[in-house]
Amino acid sequence: MTTDNPPTNPYLPLAAPGIPGLNPYIPGKPISELKRELGIHDPIKLASNENPLGPSPRVRQALQEAMSDLARYPDGGGFDLRRRLAERHHISTERITLGNGSNDVLDMVARVFLCPGAEAVISEHAFAVYAISTQAVGAGARIAKARHFGHDLEAMRALVNENTRVVFIANPNNPTGTWLTGSDLHDFIASLPGQVMTVVDEAYIEYVREQDYPDTSTWLDDFPNLIVTRTFSKAYGLAGLRVGYGLSHPAVADLLNRVRQPFNVNSLALAAAEAALGDPEHVAHAVRLNSEGMAQLTDGFSALGLDHIPSAGNFVAVDLGQPAAPIDQALLREGCITRPIGNYGLSTHLRVSVGLPEENRRFLDALQKVVGRQPTRTG
Ligand code: PMP
Repeated sequence: MTTDNPPTNPYLPLAAPGIPGLNPYIPGKPISELKRELGIHDPIKLASNENPLGPSPRVRQALQEAMSDLARYPDGGGFDLRRRLAERHHISTERITLGNGSNDVLDMVARVFLCPGAEAVISEHAFAVYAISTQAVGAGARIAKARHFGHDLEAMRALVNENTRVVFIANPNNPTGTWLTGSDLHDFIASLPGQVMTVVDEAYIEYVREQDYPDTSTWLDDFPNLIVTRTFSKAYGLAGLRVGYGLSHPAVADLLNRVRQPFNVNSLALAAAEAALGDPEHVAHAVRLNSEGMAQLTDGFSALGLDHIPSAGNFVAVDLGQPAAPIDQALLREGCITRPIGNYGLSTHLRVSVGLPEENRRFLDALQKVVGRQPTRTG
C-alpha cells in the first residue's frame, strides 16, 4: 500500500484525543512481502532484531505438546510461566505481569498511569512505542534531546515536573543500541519523585556484554516506582509468538494486571516461553553468534569508510552519510531487508540486525554495491 497521498480519514474528528496525531509504528517489511512485491526468491531479513537461530529445539517440542489443547483457553494467570520467572529472578510471582510481547506491558503502563494532562518523559531516538502508547491515551510526550545518540539523563531529569507520571528508558535503546551505566541509571532513578513510574526496558539485556551495564531487576526492592520490562522476542527467538513481561512492586503489578486483557498470552506462547527458559545454552549460543556477527558487520562498515553507533544490542545503526531511504530501496532490490530510521530522526542511518554469518556477508556485499564504495581493506 502506498502512503504518498493518504485520503483524509472522515472519522478522524471522532477519534479519542491523541489518536489523530499518532504516527503508527512502522514494522520491518516481512519476507513474504518482498517476495510478493519484487519477486525475490531468497531475501534476507535483518530488519526486526530477531534471533537468526530461531528458538531452542526444546521450544519446538513444547509447542508440539501444547497443540493438543488448542480448544481450551490458556491459563489466564500464566501460573507456570510466572512461577518459573519468579524463580529465575528470585522474586515473588506477584511482581510479574505477563504481556503479549513486552509492547503489551508498555501499553498497560501507559493505560494505568497516563491520561490527558499527565506527561511521560522520553528520549529523542528512543523506541517508538513509548510515544505511541503515551499519545494513544491522550497524555503528553516530553522528548529530551539525546546526547551522542543515547539517553541524556540530565536532560530527561530536567523535563520531569509535577505532571510527569512515567519516564521511559530503553537500555539498550532501539534503534541506536546505546546503553546507560549502572551508577548513572541508579542515581537518576533515585533522583525521581516517588510518583514517577520509571520503566526500564531491557528487551536486549541478554546480548549486553558491557561491564558497567546494570540488571535493574535486582533494584526492585530499592525502587517501588521501578518497572522493568523483558521479552522472549529477541535472544529467546520467540518474536512470532508474542510474549514478554514486566517486573515491579506487587502493588504496581496489581494495577497493570487490572488492565491486562484476559488470556493476553496464548497457550503456545506460554508453553514456548517456559521451555525457552529451560535452555540457557541456546541463549548463550545466540549471544556468541551475535558478538561475532556484530564484529563482522562493524568491520565491514569500517572497510567501507562508514561510521556506526556502537551498539550493545543485536543490531547496529550505520551512518551512510547520505539519505538512507533510497539506499534501503536499493538494498530491497538486492534482496536485503533492513531498516532506514528517518522516523527516529536519523535520516542518514540504516539499522541492521545481526544475522547469520552468511546473511551478514550478503548484506555487506549488497551495501558495498549500492553505496558504490570500494572497501579500503578486507573486512
Ligand atoms: N522494547 C524495545 C527496545 C524493542 O526494540 C522492542 C521490539 N522491537 C520491544 C520493546 C518490544 O518487543 P516485544 O513486544 O516483541 O517484546
